[in-house]
Amino acid sequence: MLFSRILLFFFVFTNIKLLYSVDNELKNIRFSDNHQSKSLRIVLDLTHKAPYTVFLLNENPRLVIDLESKSNIKKFKNESIFIKNIRTRKTDQNLMRIVFDLKSNLYINKHFYLKKNEKNIFRLVIDLKVNNKNKDKYKVKKNREESKFIVTIDAGHGGIDPGAINLGKKEKNITLIAAKELKNILEKKNFKVFLTRTNDTFISLKKRRHIAKKNNSDLFISLHVDSLKKKATRGTSIYTLSEKASDSITAKLAERENKVDLIAGVNLQDVDNEVASILLDLNRRETKNSSSLFAENYVNIVRKNGHRLLIRPHRHAGFAVLKSTDIPSVLIELGFLSNINDVKLLTKKKTRLRLLVSLAESIELFAKKRRRFN
Ligand code: ZN
Repeated sequence: MLFSRILLFFFVFTNIKLLYSVDNELKNIRFSDNHQSKSLRIVLDLTHKAPYTVFLLNENPRLVIDLESKSNIKKFKNESIFIKNIRTRKTDQNLMRIVFDLKSNLYINKHFYLKKNEKNIFRLVIDLKVNNKNKDKYKVKKNREESKFIVTIDAGHGGIDPGAINLGKKEKNITLIAAKELKNILEKKNFKVFLTRTNDTFISLKKRRHIAKKNNSDLFISLHVDSLKKKATRGTSIYTLSEKASDSITAKLAERENKVDLIAGVNLQDVDNEVASILLDLNRRETKNSSSLFAENYVNIVRKNGHRLLIRPHRHAGFAVLKSTDIPSVLIELGFLSNINDVKLLTKKKTRLRLLVSLAESIELFAKKRRRFN
């Protein structure tokens, strides 16, 4: 045990070195417009193959690149007709944010590193395309499909893992019904929705994250129903990932939720390494901010619509199911199975739907504010 801790320490230490000893410098930004195909290639010339994250913001369309770089901010010349303006700023000592104000909404076709050239320069390539309405019908349809916001809904627990049980009601059944209903509501609002499970089966927490990734999700929502010894506690709450729990009750909740893999005998050997790399992952910062933004949306809308919330409804802890590095992820406790009023609210379709409609409203608001491309 001690030995594995020492190993973990070295793993973390060497990775910090790997990531933070890069004296990466952004040398130049080059553009090549293709007027015919209405596409644009942006090339960043870098001294190192530095970690980065790239995403689009739909409101006042912008392309954002966060780049590990120690160099100071510079002015770059805009040479593209698709771009209005380029801004750079340091978000911390090792991180540079480059913002491209776009003339219209583009989508990211792909992004990748080219091998070092003869001058020892790495080239980070970002290919963008215009959503062209004049293209043939098939293409328009495809573009519409591409621009759909993708949500993966995870019905907590399942199979041999029932989750909380009270008054003959099982958490795994309530989360499954709620997930299916939420899917219906969202599909009517033109979202693309996937479920991690559609029946009463056991799925590991890691697999749930993988399903979200495979579906190229913009958002991952894990639905649960909490249970406490204190029967008076009621209301909904939302959780985002943190290595440190916000309070002891939340820490215990995370512990309970994380245990489900142990119930089914899933091997957790690689979890420590995963946590270590996640801590260092650059994408993580952006994803964490987005997850928190979603949580704030949820709290505000649920409150505005008159639902009951837990005191301090947005909390954080190390939930294994939320550890995706690049998909904003939240865990929602719809209410308490240990509280008789919440049980009524969550088992009656009409009242359950009211809460789910509010949840859908917060997803809609989040999708409007931001859309990620991977
Ligand atoms: Zn649960």
